[in-house]
Amino acid sequence: MAKAPKYVWAVLEALEAAGYEAWCVGGCVRDTLLGREPEDWDVTTSALPEEIMAVFGPHAFPTGLKHGTVTVRSQHQSVEVTTYRVDGTYHDHRRPDSVAFTRSLEEDLARRDLTVNAMAMDLRGTLRDPFGGQADLKAGILRCVGDPDRRFQEDALRILRVLRFAAVLGFSIEPGTATAIHQNRELLRDIAAERVQVEFFKLLQGKDAAAVLREYPDVVGVFWPEVLPMVGFDQKNFHHCYDVWEHTLHAVDWIPGDPVLRCAALLHDIGKPNCFTADEKGLGHFYGHPAISRDLADGMLRRLKCSNELRETVTRLVEWHDRDIPRTDRGVRKALNVLGEEDLRRLILVKRADNFAQAPQFWDRQAEIDKAEDILDRLLAEDACFSLKQLAVNGKDLTEMGLSGPAVGRALNTLLERVVDGGLPNERAVLLEAVKDL
Ligand code: ATP
Ligand code: MG
Repeated sequence: MAKAPKYVWAVLEALEAAGYEAWCVGGCVRDTLLGREPEDWDVTTSALPEEIMAVFGPHAFPTGLKHGTVTVRSQHQSVEVTTYRVDGTYHDHRRPDSVAFTRSLEEDLARRDLTVNAMAMDLRGTLRDPFGGQADLKAGILRCVGDPDRRFQEDALRILRVLRFAAVLGFSIEPGTATAIHQNRELLRDIAAERVQVEFFKLLQGKDAAAVLREYPDVVGVFWPEVLPMVGFDQKNFHHCYDVWEHTLHAVDWIPGDPVLRCAALLHDIGKPNCFTADEKGLGHFYGHPAISRDLADGMLRRLKCSNELRETVTRLVEWHDRDIPRTDRGVRKALNVLGEEDLRRLILVKRADNFAQAPQFWDRQAEIDKAEDILDRLLAEDACFSLKQLAVNGKDLTEMGLSGPAVGRALNTLLERVVDGGLPNERAVLLEAVKDL
């Protein structure tokens, strides 16, 4: 395995020197063959867990002995070393009831989810690929090892793993595997929300996320049924050339592959189907949809056990997405005061994505967003004042002027309001003078 980092190499060597077989396996082999940087390196070996412990002595930690996994510290890094293993029966669509160790690498590879994830490579660069993983990798195909129905019934998380790899690698899903994904999707209900969340957010960040979502809204609908009414929902409005779902997918596709941005794009119009009205001319409207979308998004993100930080940022962007973008210094200062720079920049991207996902004759609205961005850049370069931190006076100044208690905070906020509003310049002398009139 010429390309394995030194610390992984050292683990393979130590196991071989003790007389065992040792291979890099799974994702790290797949990614190396693709020329991608692996997320982590896994080693599989014929050595039993206690034998691995004996080889590495004080550098071995029994982190998952039941499943045959020992974590080995090698050159200040961790490598998961797992004994060749076959999984027993599955009852809960989540985890095998038992695992058994084996001395056969082929048996271990057979329990792995996809052909492209079922390859092993040793120190000499010998590749073991009993299921045609290399050919599938070349062709860009995701295919289950063995019968896809059975594999998804064993462990339903594999359904989302396949969609995740399709989105991240841009691979297509072999037809039999695709059919089994649709047919077994309900089994995802047995998977813990946290695990669904991890896979789904990796999917969302993939370069082909929109294409995968377009093919599999039924799978997303198992944990987020709120998505389903968007599919095919005719907006009956000339601003839009797509139904709500297609519009959403175009926005997801346009926005950068960051979890907050992709999620905000996916959910920005989630409430539209709930508030559709048609006027006397038959024109569709969605009054109040940002607030309804925000509330739905909040519930959805809570259900997936997302972090408070992600949930709060996404719901805020959803709530703000339909407001006019500020195009004056004063407006941008006010937006900065409420959102801060990071979220205002995110809002700008959400608005761009939303606009590019509308009918092309309305794309000239991008010029308004350009203007807002120019003002934002200039104000920040000028060190404009939009928060208490930047105000030219502070609490101590006001205390020295004889103010005390809550009056200090009140006065500072009033001054900030006036500076943001443009009524006062952010100059110390002027502000101190203004305090006397408060
Ligand atoms: P990543 O790039 O996220 O690390 P990965 O394929 O390496 O992707 P890991 O979770 O690191 O995923 O798992 C390592 C290997 O273990 C996989 O490549 C696959 O061979 C096997 N594997 C992981 N999860 C499953 C599963 N649910 N069912 C079957 N095999 C699995
Ligand atoms: Mg991995």
